Amino acid sequence: MVEGRFGTGETAQTLEATLTLEDTWLIVRDRSGVILYRGSNNKASLSSRLGKTPRTVTFDRDSPSQTFETDNHAGIEAVVTGQGGTRGFLHKLESNLGLVACATALTLGFAIWLAVYAVPAGVKSIALALPDAFLNNAGTHTLYLLDNTYLAPSELSSEDKARIRRMLTPHFEHQSQFLYFRSWIPNAFALPNGSIVVTDELIQLAENDEELIAIVYHELGHVAQRHLIRRTLQDSALLIGLFLLTGDLGGADFLSGVTVTLADLAYSREFEREADFHALAALIASGISKDHYRNILLKLDAWYADNSDGIGNSLSPLKYLSTHPQTSERIEAIDAY
Ligand SMILES: [Zn+2]
Repeated sequence: MVEGRFGTGETAQTLEATLTLEDTWLIVRDRSGVILYRGSNNKASLSSRLGKTPRTVTFDRDSPSQTFETDNHAGIEAVVTGQGGTRGFLHKLESNLGLVACATALTLGFAIWLAVYAVPAGVKSIALALPDAFLNNAGTHTLYLLDNTYLAPSELSSEDKARIRRMLTPHFEHQSQFLYFRSWIPNAFALPNGSIVVTDELIQLAENDEELIAIVYHELGHVAQRHLIRRTLQDSALLIGLFLLTGDLGGADFLSGVTVTLADLAYSREFEREADFHALAALIASGISKDHYRNILLKLDAWYADNSDGIGNSLSPLKYLSTHPQTSERIEAIDAY
């Protein structure tokens, strides 16, 4: 005898009931023993087993209105021998740990493949195809965000600004690229539309114009490869992927994630290497010694090392840059170029 709930099919309501097999008859009785239904076991079917979800007996496959539902899996399988009594494919899969492990490994493998190859490749082609209007908009938005978070107005005199603008902008690749002056830590970075921001602190750190030109060439390398846009798209795609895989964002605030990406301006080693090669090629084409590039990178590295504690904690990008052990690697690559 199996306990469960009987559905008459006439209303959505179910009645507490029991199911027994007598000869070849399935008999449903209510709590007081009154027979509610009697039908042939041969005509009944049992829903497939899937984990702990309740099982449903449909008494007549031709008119499936009356049903009996129970959580007693072993009991119901002993009683109902009609079609469907065998365990379903999903349940077999679920009960087989080997298969489960295998499916999990496949899913993980697919996710990693997506993250490492598919997303970056897709994102690169999207980034390279984005229209100028979109990039200009993204550039304005990024600068606005940075002005409201990290950047302060430049304190350079207008004469100094004019001189540096005259010196640097001929090295830009497009007329539409603009040079912005701001104050922050020693840094330079490219906006999505290719405009470049340099800080007063970088200008003070540089010993000569060539060092600034070298840094600008590096930034133009990020522009040519659309690195900022690619990183932003990649991070958003990964967050969305994570959401699709797990069904929740696990506390990761989607929008703030994107904002942080725009603000922290830290790139992967691969992107830095690409930008370095771009800078070296441009320096050689302009007849400027690559030593200037080497020197400014070492000065930046030393500055970050000295200042990582003092200004550190509130400036996560600074912390990131100072702990990112890549300057020595990059210097080696410059020397080998
Ligand atoms: Zn860079």
